[in-house]
Amino acid sequence: MSINGGYFMKVLHVDLNECKTYVEEVDEEFALKYIGGRGWGARLVWEHLKEDTDPLSPENIIVIAPGPLSGLYLPSAGKTSICSISPTTGIYGDSNIGGMFGVELRQAGFDAMVIKGKAPELSYLWIDDDDIQLKSAENYAGMGSIETEHQLREDIGDETVKVASIGPAGEKMVKMACITADWGRNAGRTGMGAILGSKNLKAIAIRGTRDLPVADLKRLTGISDKSFKKLSRHNLFEFWQRQGLMSVIDYANTAGIIPTHNFKDTHFEEADKINGDVMELEYKIGDTACFGCPMACGNVNLVKDGKYAGTVIEGPEYETAAMFGSNVGVSDFSAILRANYLCDEYGIDTITAGSLISVMIEAYEKDLVTLEDLDGMALNWGDDESVMEMIRKIAFREGVGDTLAEGAYGVIERWPQLAPIVNHVKGLDQSAYDARVAITMALGYATSDIGAHHARAWPVAKELEMGCNWDLNEKADLVIYHQTVRPLFDMLGVCRLPWIELGFDENTYAEFFSAAVGIEFTLEELLKLSNDVYNLTRAINIRLGLTRDDDRPPERVFNDPIKTGPHAGKVLNRDEFREILDIYYQRRGWDNDGIPTDETLKASGLEDAIEYMKPKRKAE
Ligand code: SF4
Repeated sequence: MSINGGYFMKVLHVDLNECKTYVEEVDEEFALKYIGGRGWGARLVWEHLKEDTDPLSPENIIVIAPGPLSGLYLPSAGKTSICSISPTTGIYGDSNIGGMFGVELRQAGFDAMVIKGKAPELSYLWIDDDDIQLKSAENYAGMGSIETEHQLREDIGDETVKVASIGPAGEKMVKMACITADWGRNAGRTGMGAILGSKNLKAIAIRGTRDLPVADLKRLTGISDKSFKKLSRHNLFEFWQRQGLMSVIDYANTAGIIPTHNFKDTHFEEADKINGDVMELEYKIGDTACFGCPMACGNVNLVKDGKYAGTVIEGPEYETAAMFGSNVGVSDFSAILRANYLCDEYGIDTITAGSLISVMIEAYEKDLVTLEDLDGMALNWGDDESVMEMIRKIAFREGVGDTLAEGAYGVIERWPQLAPIVNHVKGLDQSAYDARVAITMALGYATSDIGAHHARAWPVAKELEMGCNWDLNEKADLVIYHQTVRPLFDMLGVCRLPWIELGFDENTYAEFFSAAVGIEFTLEELLKLSNDVYNLTRAINIRLGLTRDDDRPPERVFNDPIKTGPHAGKVLNRDEFREILDIYYQRRGWDNDGIPTDETLKASGLEDAIEYMKPKRKAE
């Protein structure tokens, strides 16, 4: 087996303590076993892992890893994983970013970058192919992410340089801080921006000029030509370009899964004021796309009049529109655009911020917190101005915002009475799909290796389509399938949306990969490797203290019946959830406490994890 393309076989290491960089040559076994992207990131995190490392300390590493297909001529190949131990959850975390940034890193000649240590002053990293320098970023202190990107390009004197940066929230180590690139593409979840902030790293600017290696360019081009044609002929292709993920608002509202008033409800009466049609008719001025993407799901919107006039933003997509729309009771689309803009500029995750603000509105509504707790600012459903103020307070860690900046765990620590209404798993706030109507979605959230994030498993549509009353074994298998195929896209460095939204055949990705590296892989082989990485991230989390008790969906799914809409009255049954979790563990080859068995670890090529699992197992 010999790799003939797809990789440079190089990882760039940056030690900010020493202001040094070095390049590590990767061997073929590592490259193919972990594929790239999230797989490489998880393995590198495992190799540096110490159980007592504070995520925001210089010892924690952060890995930026585009996959082997990133930047190649094939549809939607512009994705990059950013992996570390998350300050939001305290366990393994990663987030995925689109745009061009990762592609540029590859063009500089690196398959991944590992950053550790802490720079002596606020700095940025300038990667100009092999010329790598750490430069002062004191001039950019406190600057927003979008402005930093603009200013850095101007200062470097090259508009084509790609920049990933943090805003003031990242500098202040707000635990929901994100990393932003390409004017609003975000690695939003699990607080990766706070880690850059803890390392005094304001930004990374890259100029790469190399061609990417491909083993069989003719074969790759042939498959890609056909794939682009096939996608562009899909009957939803043009609609997708027009609305992107904003089309999900109508689906989620009709299906009764849209978060409404902090997930108290799953149907929003005013959904037709915040949907894709409103965006298209009144706000949209353009499209954006990640590298090589014909779907171009990014919507550029402008607020033309009213109190938020002049706001221009690439976004929102569904999650942001739901979390700053129905979930906080706002039905003014221009307010959603403003919230999106503020989050991008300050550099905070829209899902987590929207979720925690809605928690505080409900807490105030129910007298669970006082006006004094809220710095004297009353919070009410639909009050967009107080939402904007809360976003600002979180980003700058001001007053109540300082507690929210600590994430779900921080909020519960200060106000334990709010635990039943903070919708999180393992400290990560739930994405914008209710889980009471589909036990598979609850299981997907509960067992996700990074917390309650839909990108790991989104089985809710299938379960609703099938009518919910089917075998629990099959439901557990559906979740495992999602948790295997979806992360594979992150490992390859491509976007999953052509597969999800336009039914693109995932077997084609095995063909792309085979053509890129010059070795034949089937989809089944790649899925096996993806499953191995899931066992690896599970092993990381077990080492960090995760137990079965952490594999549970937000309390609300068991306690509070849905109020209105097609699923009114619905809650999940606790015993049934316990039963499906047992089944899930068994089908995954994990013991009854959720620890991968020795056999499972061996089958995943993770023999070195066996020793670490021993002290975690209960005495037999
Ligand atoms: S579908 Fe959207 S997120 Fe995916 S690659 Fe295309 S533009 Fe990027």
